[in-house]
Amino acid sequence: MNPTRLLAAIMFASTVLPALAEDVVVYSARNEQLIKPLFDAYTHDTGVRIKFITDKEGPLMARLKAEGRNTPADMLLTVDAGNLWQASEEDLLRPIRSKTLETNVPAHLRDPGNEWFGLSVRARTIVYNTQKVKPADLSTYEDLANPKWKGRLCLRTSKKVYNQSLVAMMIHEYGEEKTEAMVRGWVGNLATSPFPDDTKAMEAVAAGQCDATIVNTYYFGRLMEKNPKLPLAIFWPNQNLKNQTAGVHVNISGAGVTRHARNPAGAQKLIEWLSSDKAQNLFADVNLEYPVNPKVVPDKTVAAWGGFRQSLINVKEAGSLQTKAVRLMDRAGYK
Ligand code: FE
Repeated sequence: MNPTRLLAAIMFASTVLPALAEDVVVYSARNEQLIKPLFDAYTHDTGVRIKFITDKEGPLMARLKAEGRNTPADMLLTVDAGNLWQASEEDLLRPIRSKTLETNVPAHLRDPGNEWFGLSVRARTIVYNTQKVKPADLSTYEDLANPKWKGRLCLRTSKKVYNQSLVAMMIHEYGEEKTEAMVRGWVGNLATSPFPDDTKAMEAVAAGQCDATIVNTYYFGRLMEKNPKLPLAIFWPNQNLKNQTAGVHVNISGAGVTRHARNPAGAQKLIEWLSSDKAQNLFADVNLEYPVNPKVVPDKTVAAWGGFRQSLINVKEAGSLQTKAVRLMDRAGYK
């Protein structure tokens, strides 16, 4: 959002419509087209008005910090556990006790300190060229470091938090030494320099520039909706490992109640509602993500990709090990 529109949104939130006691004010890094239908449904259900601004997580968190006690925001909604962990570290969120959220959100997808809760699951997995690779050739993220993939791998840049989170979780799982060897192997197998986004990496795979890549599944879904004939398919790695916590690397988009919320009870009710059967499909399906609530079935397109075992490592590790992950990728020459 440009500064003028941001200012207009803030003025809208604070002056044009004076906040009623029960209004909830949300700062959202999830964009308007993803959240507006949900908020409209909530208002329709409960009569509670929601005011929101959207921006990238960096500016939103900086804003929360600068506003301090005077912030109008009751709730922060963002993507990637790394960002939510950061918000918690900077004391921008407050812990809440909620039986509903403990029931609806699996333990590995929420903050052990109860400051943030996953609301949708994003799986970061392998996508391959179906004309060049058989599923039997694939097994784990680690295996993509094997020299048999030399010149066949495409990756998105290590600057993106998604890859930082992936590597952070691997450090938690395997330790730094083994993870660094793996990342070095990936870099050694690259067909070309890393791409700025997941879609470009998949397009390179489809074009035959390389054979496989690692992406979030909703980008695969979007690309295939546009061009269903592309020779691409999803592979779920790390499914048969003995390690109890092993599986597909998952992350979340999620929310927490702000430290200086004026209406913390209202924000908590909204987060609880977003985790409910009723709202979960609205929340996840618009972006082809997975519901966080295990009782809720994903969208048809998403369900067609098949079930998979997810890694049960708490997603907070994406944050706590992020600095180490960034340094490691730098040492390994992953640009
Ligand atoms: Fe994304």
